[in-house]
Amino acid sequence: MTLPSVLRVLSHEFEVLAAPGISGLDAVACVSHDACRVMVDTDRPESCQREGLLHEVLEELDYRLELKLKHRQITALSEGLADTLLRNPEVAALFAGDED
Ligand SMILES: [Zn+2]
Repeated sequence: MTLPSVLRVLSHEFEVLAAPGISGLDAVACVSHDACRVMVDTDRPESCQREGLLHEVLEELDYRLELKLKHRQITALSEGLADTLLRNPEVAALFAGDED
């Protein structure tokens, strides 16, 4: 699996970095709001990396929009959305590469 190098959330552009071994933090991924950087543990299975990236998008939306979601809500949403997008590629394709 190839991670995207850039992740755009709202008006911010995040650098996405492979960070094998950050599982020591007990997280597959983490986001630095101020540094605009997302790190993903590439030692984890691909399904975990994909969901972790989506999880950090939701973490960033929660932070920037001051949604005050509980962490378990972010986790539930990222797991649910990851499952839906993975099992419905024709739905995921509706959102792919047509930004202009
Ligand atoms: Zn989290």
